Amino acid sequence: MKKTAGHKYIFIIGGVMSGVGKGVASSSLGTLLSAKGFRVNLVKVDPYLNVDAGTMNPTEHGEVFVLNSGLETDQDMGNYERFLGRDLTNDDYITSGMIYKHVIEKERALGYGGKCVEAIPHIRDEIVGRFEHAARTNKSDISILEIGGTVGDYQNIMFIEAARVLKMRHPDDVIFIMVSYLPTPGKLGEMKTRPTQHAVQQLASYGVNTDIIIARAETALDERRKTKIAVACNIHPKCVISAPDIESIYDVPINFDQDHLGNIVLEALHISPRKTTDEFKTWKKMARGIKNSSHNQVDIAIVGKYFNTGDFTLTDAYLSVLEAVKFSAYAAGVKAVIHTVNARDFEKGKIDYSSLDTYHGIIVPGGFGETGIEGKINVIRYAREKGIPYFGLCYGMQLMTIEYARNVLGLKGANTAEINPRAAHLLIDIMPEQKKKIAEGNYGGSMRLGAYTAQIFVDTIAHEAYGADERFAGKKSKKAKAVKGVLKIEERHRHRYEVNPEYIEQLEAAGLIFSGKSPDGMLMEIAELPLSVHPFFVGTQFHPEFLARPLAPHPLFTAFMKASKKRKSQQPVSVVEKESAEEVLTTYTLAYRK
Ligand code: GLN
Repeated sequence: MKKTAGHKYIFIIGGVMSGVGKGVASSSLGTLLSAKGFRVNLVKVDPYLNVDAGTMNPTEHGEVFVLNSGLETDQDMGNYERFLGRDLTNDDYITSGMIYKHVIEKERALGYGGKCVEAIPHIRDEIVGRFEHAARTNKSDISILEIGGTVGDYQNIMFIEAARVLKMRHPDDVIFIMVSYLPTPGKLGEMKTRPTQHAVQQLASYGVNTDIIIARAETALDERRKTKIAVACNIHPKCVISAPDIESIYDVPINFDQDHLGNIVLEALHISPRKTTDEFKTWKKMARGIKNSSHNQVDIAIVGKYFNTGDFTLTDAYLSVLEAVKFSAYAAGVKAVIHTVNARDFEKGKIDYSSLDTYHGIIVPGGFGETGIEGKINVIRYAREKGIPYFGLCYGMQLMTIEYARNVLGLKGANTAEINPRAAHLLIDIMPEQKKKIAEGNYGGSMRLGAYTAQIFVDTIAHEAYGADERFAGKKSKKAKAVKGVLKIEERHRHRYEVNPEYIEQLEAAGLIFSGKSPDGMLMEIAELPLSVHPFFVGTQFHPEFLARPLAPHPLFTAFMKASKKRKSQQPVSVVEKESAEEVLTTYTLAYRK
């Protein structure tokens, strides 16, 4: 085998259509190559002109994910972190908007020494430079770079061109994997390979040859079609990998391994295999467990609003929340069935609040704006009064505070400045610093974004959960079971508003506990009710779901799932409609295709 010393690059490009699972394929290859002992970095390339994903509505492109740095990204970055079990950085995310902004700003600052600045070479070389930079800063052996969109799109041509140049410079170090789709039209009942052949030809017309094809389809690829694709696309049949729809995305690295994808990739990159790590054993156990964890089914309602796009219900907007629930359900020894409930339906009287009795836990996730707010507040009230485990994430914590102020403190006009800045009681308000930014029209820069430290106080639900978790409390927790004293943790934020410090005293006097606060004590990070009053009534100003990983479930989600499990044991008969549960399973498949 020819030896090369260079860094290795794998480009993942979509063929035929979008939404077939490029993100999951890239992440899974990352897991697999890490398991084989290589340090891998994953880069997401989004061809849109948005500089980051922060200004996009979640129904456009799914959930907006946030990195520790505060960068707002595509939801694929969440998958990357979950599959690699590692925090990613700004170097790992590239958009056309970022590239163009940088090049234009550099031109304005005379950075090109009087040259005519053009897409080729300046934009292209800026992209190549970022690919190389990400490899360097990650100190990795192999980079996996997922190029958003599909071959044939106008928007991603420059990224493919950059990849081509990299390949030209390092012929033995760069390979191209196409994640393609093979349709089986209902009337024909036969899987068709032609669209994939065309996609490969299209890529070849850019000067890029496909090395490996991951053939996404509803069913597995048969030998006949494998050979057909191989011959037509000029690649070895073993390099055509069958990737049918499956129940759980966490099985994908395992299936890739069974199809020898890891070794095929290493061979194509001219590197020798290494010993498989023990981590992969843990991964396999988790993947098995998540699917079959238990017959003990716990019904969780997610009361949100970003569900409908046209005639379809999309749960993509809450992807990290769904995954976090899944991991913690496994940790708690239950199987979570998630039910998406639209908050507006309560307001319209389409569903009655009493239907909430049938759930074992309720989550109000993050959100923005007015839609469904009153419905959500009433749902929270119902959960509080009926003792149903409740977990509020960001907006879900703010609304929980408003609910408490209205119905326990009797402050009828309690509201958030986001909805009514003239409300009698602004329980949730904007901090002076953010106010200034909004006045300047700088909405993109007006949020508290990324990782911030919070102190967690003893004798609270939050302290017990974090204190027993090694990732947050450090090694000490193992022996002592839980750390003593105030704990310092870091969690990721994405919000403009905060609990108004003027109301803290009143809220605390009325029984609400702020178990997490910013180090200066000014910003409320976690609110909860004592266990003596409610089995689990907790809200976080941050988004714990962004730190939940399959091999490291988030301690607060696990505490919530345990409380939901307890409710189930006290109320074993579930009357939740089967129909809506099935809907969720379908959307999981959609999410995988993305
Ligand atoms: N809309 C709220 C705010 O901006 C909550 C944001 C969120 O839930 N991510 O503060």
